[in-house]
Amino acid sequence: MEDLKSIIRNIPDFPKKGILFKDITTLLGDAKSFQRMVDLMSHRYVGQKIDKVVGVEARGFIIGAALAYKLGAGIVLVRKPGKLPSTTVKKTYDLEYGTDTLEIHTDAFNKGDRVLIADDLLATGGTMAAVVDMITSMGVELVECCFMAELEFLEGRKKLPEDKVFSLLKF
Ligand code: 5GP
Repeated sequence: MEDLKSIIRNIPDFPKKGILFKDITTLLGDAKSFQRMVDLMSHRYVGQKIDKVVGVEARGFIIGAALAYKLGAGIVLVRKPGKLPSTTVKKTYDLEYGTDTLEIHTDAFNKGDRVLIADDLLATGGTMAAVVDMITSMGVELVECCFMAELEFLEGRKKLPEDKVFSLLKF
């Protein structure tokens, strides 16, 4: 896993001063690394019944779509406000300063769907906790929240359902 970790680039002071941003575009842009990442992540779920993969805007769309294709599942989008064209369920959650809102189509799932949620990175866990709240209120079964990378020192997984968090690369 160290080879995949080392290809992720650190960008200091992005998006604001004091933050060391993990730039995953370097991994996505490398053919072998991208393929290996998708293969390793999807391998965990092969043989399980997964009806839908939820991808969280925007980098979660890339990982979510690749996993959905590999697992023979549908891909469902969780988007920033005002982007989805049909009726939505909304969830507002707290950030360090202020709040943010995410939306999902009301009819994105069938009752009892087994759902995997995908995002690129787990930091404080606020984003994923909001997505978990949103989708579990829609009558589906959460299989797991999966991430390409996790910043373990931020302890984001404490905000998420125990035993339902997987990350491929841990920093
Ligand atoms: P959280 O809500 O866990 O604090 O932040 C996670 C969300 O912010 C994810 O959707 C992720 O894309 C984005 N994010 C936060 N920090 C980073 C980072 O260092 N690198 C990347 N690629 N995404 C980040």
